Amino acid sequence: MATLLERVQRGDLLMFDGAMGTMLQANGLQAGECPELWNVTHPEVVRGIAEAYFAAGSDVVSTNTFGGNALKLREFGLEGRARELNAAGARLAKDAAGPERCVAASVGPTGQILEDEGGDATEAALYAVYVEQIAALAEGGADAVIVETMLSTLEAAQAVRAGKAAGLPVFATFTFARGARGFRTVMGASPARVAEEMADAGADAVGANCGGGIRDLLDVVREFRAAAPDLPLLIQPNAGLPELVGGITRYTETPADMAARVPDLLAAGATLLGGCCGTTPAHIAAIATVVKG
Ligand SMILES: [Zn+2]
Repeated sequence: MATLLERVQRGDLLMFDGAMGTMLQANGLQAGECPELWNVTHPEVVRGIAEAYFAAGSDVVSTNTFGGNALKLREFGLEGRARELNAAGARLAKDAAGPERCVAASVGPTGQILEDEGGDATEAALYAVYVEQIAALAEGGADAVIVETMLSTLEAAQAVRAGKAAGLPVFATFTFARGARGFRTVMGASPARVAEEMADAGADAVGANCGGGIRDLLDVVREFRAAAPDLPLLIQPNAGLPELVGGITRYTETPADMAARVPDLLAAGATLLGGCCGTTPAHIAAIATVVKG
């Protein structure tokens, strides 16, 4: 059987999963709680979310470890438990995956700003933190790494290099906003620059997640494809732009709304599809029906 990396490289259409954070909130995670702690305090909830995505048609489900690097865990006084929380997160998703399907380790930003971007963090320090996190995710059985919701190419490159050093395929996705000069990350990188820098760092796929809804991300896909014709593209949109209704953040695109736009994303060159904030197993099931049909 082909490996996940072989399937990505030969252009298979693969279904990833939907949101983790908003699903945990729907299951009772409170503001100010550490989501990754739920890997040990509420393992049945975390495993249940992974199972629901696999049942909806996901080929690859990501771990509940987006904020699992020691620098983010420090905000909760949990930096000493990075290995435990990440390994537990990978094991829960692996349990749900069984032998046939895959688990991608979710790796997010550290929240630190690098010296070259006006902050005081060094590349070596961030690399070391990502090496620690990814080693624990690999120990728990992760098949690949998704470096996601990234804002800085310099920081993302440290995470990509750490994933490759662990011997895993690495996919890197960024959050873009539409501005006067086109789509840019918060740090000012265009999709073309992201593709170039991530390819240099060793990423096996690039793309976009979070930020806007599926319509915005279609334009981002076109920019990526024009700049990097051969790099596999992973696209995980939110269920539309968040709206604040009565003090509660809501995402308004329905599964059918998102599924209707999937043919355009595939035609533009995306082969790896999933969802971000506000998407549920119902959204993934609707998208998967189009992807696999
Ligand atoms: Zn999101």
